[in-house]
Amino acid sequence: VKKQTSIPVALYGGRHAVTMLPGSGIGPELMTYVKNVFRYAGAPVDFQIVDIDPKSDDKKELEYAITSIRRNGVAIKGNIETKSESAEVRSRNVAIRNELDLFVNVLHCKSFPGVPARQKDIDIMIIRQNTEGEYAMLEHESVCGVVESMKVVTHSNSERVARWAFDYAKRMGRKKVTTIHKANIMKLSDGLFLETSRRIAKEYPDIEHNDMIIDNCCMQLVSKPHQFDVMIMTNLYGSIVSNVVCGLIGGAGLLCGKNYGDHYAIFEPGTRNTGTAIAGKNIANPVAMLNAAVAMLEHLGHTKHAKLIENAIIQTICHDNIRTQDIGGTNSSTDVVQAIIDHILQADVRPW
Ligand code: ADP
Ligand code: MG
Repeated sequence: VKKQTSIPVALYGGRHAVTMLPGSGIGPELMTYVKNVFRYAGAPVDFQIVDIDPKSDDKKELEYAITSIRRNGVAIKGNIETKSESAEVRSRNVAIRNELDLFVNVLHCKSFPGVPARQKDIDIMIIRQNTEGEYAMLEHESVCGVVESMKVVTHSNSERVARWAFDYAKRMGRKKVTTIHKANIMKLSDGLFLETSRRIAKEYPDIEHNDMIIDNCCMQLVSKPHQFDVMIMTNLYGSIVSNVVCGLIGGAGLLCGKNYGDHYAIFEPGTRNTGTAIAGKNIANPVAMLNAAVAMLEHLGHTKHAKLIENAIIQTICHDNIRTQDIGGTNSSTDVVQAIIDHILQADVRPW
């Protein structure tokens, strides 16, 4: 199976340049932890930091961020807030994904043994269409008091995401793909998405394919989540289902999300929260952003550094029980980061 995303060529000395978009809320403090952990792990990455002011509608900052990602090929990001309710100002998170054609979002929802959670031993891969559907941002007030919002589903994007999902399932040795939809009501749009995934499924006879209506899917996830293996769905269902599964595993502070297109990749916390209320209090869970950083290292081919950091995270939260409040602990963010760094320093196998 061919690798779906082209990996940027390393700079002299095997170092990679990566764009860092700290975003708002807890984003900047989480990025500080990433930089610290990378320093101790000796990860060969140079960050190019691009700050985007939430209050400014200046297009220049966004353009600069996009240019930087085009040049580096890879970015790590926090959530960029748009502090304007004007319909004219579009979400810059959505703009970045659309502009770079990051058509697939992948969330590998795997339980952390020992971390308090509503469900145990979950291992679900959520593959989400990331650039169209309900996020087409085509809304207008057609006559006074009547607002229309367009959900756009295209054959080409449905096919790309379905093929991506089946290739991924095959590469990862997964057994089943479930398409999530509401084709009983949205017969044309979700119907096209479902039909396309059924057609692509025929090319993968070794992988079982079924489908489920989104509402039943939410109920099944909460009560019997172990029936799911790989799931594919349109954009908004993906956002909701990702949050449901993160909630089952331990909340917003653990998992990372990966956004891929044919040329670029962006790594971020899985539920894409800003965390405004908890910013600056040393209580945010650093794990989701650190896991995003691990996924980024894997993507760049720095697998030894990725493993070193991943093991240190697991040791800290699963075995030492050093955890932030959101996952039932009493430690601060910096306690958790320090414990992770200590494990990195104690590791027997060094990547260099
Ligand atoms: P949004 O950005 O979508 O408005 P919030 O910022 O309100 O979402 O985050 C949703 C919830 O998840 C909040 O209760 C927030 O405290 C929590 N949360 C998000 N990220 C983290 C994190 N890294 N550690 C702990 N809690 C988090
Ligand atoms: Mg918020």
